[in-house]
Amino acid sequence: MPEEDANQQNEEAARLEAGRLLFAKSCDFVAGTATLDRLPPPTLPEVAFAGRSNVGKSSLINALTGRNSLARTSNTPGRTQQINFFELGGRLMLVDLPGYGFAQAPKAQVAEWNNLVDTYLKGRVPLRRTCLLIDSRHGLKDVDREVMVMLDKAAASYQVVLTKADKIKASALDAVCEAVSAELARHLAAHPVILPTSSESGLGIAELRAALTDFANPSA
Ligand code: GDP
Repeated sequence: MPEEDANQQNEEAARLEAGRLLFAKSCDFVAGTATLDRLPPPTLPEVAFAGRSNVGKSSLINALTGRNSLARTSNTPGRTQQINFFELGGRLMLVDLPGYGFAQAPKAQVAEWNNLVDTYLKGRVPLRRTCLLIDSRHGLKDVDREVMVMLDKAAASYQVVLTKADKIKASALDAVCEAVSAELARHLAAHPVILPTSSESGLGIAELRAALTDFANPSA
């Protein structure tokens, strides 16, 4: 193997290991808030998770952190929409944004979501990256596109993470990656690399941990 390739492989292995180590640390609920005047102090770099309700966001956060019930599905219509903060190993804040896109969401609820999330995205200094979760089986929906525009306008760097990849064939996964990729090219704040994941099979979890660890404070 050429030396350059071997170096790259070593670097990638080191990144995966750094991600494994960070996500093996304790992860604790810090705060949940529905109002932006009650955000926790911005002490750590933050990575946020956004997606349509039922996209598999809670499952993904639980798979990343190796917990069964850290993040719960609480995004049922009518429930208070809140942003939940989880501190990981004293080095990174995981931020669980409320799910969007309920079929029958009343207009007031949609406006509330927009206001809460838009204000967070625009004003939160330590926010480094938002993972935009998209169900592999469905690809981008119009409501996701609206959120992508919101992220672009907020200049909030984001990366598409495909969920439930175990539910479709490899060829269908390739097709959805290609279609999403083509759309991402037109979005200013979008990271070009798409990460396919499955909380069920563990596919892509190590890679996502590594990607998020790049934003964490260095270990002491
Ligand atoms: P949330 O509303 O976005 O937090 O979604 P949940 O994490 O509660 O997941 C919604 C549903 O999808 C649940 O029934 C999960 O068991 C299922 N689910 C989530 N992730 C996966 C996955 O990676 N693979 C499969 N097969 N099912 C999943």
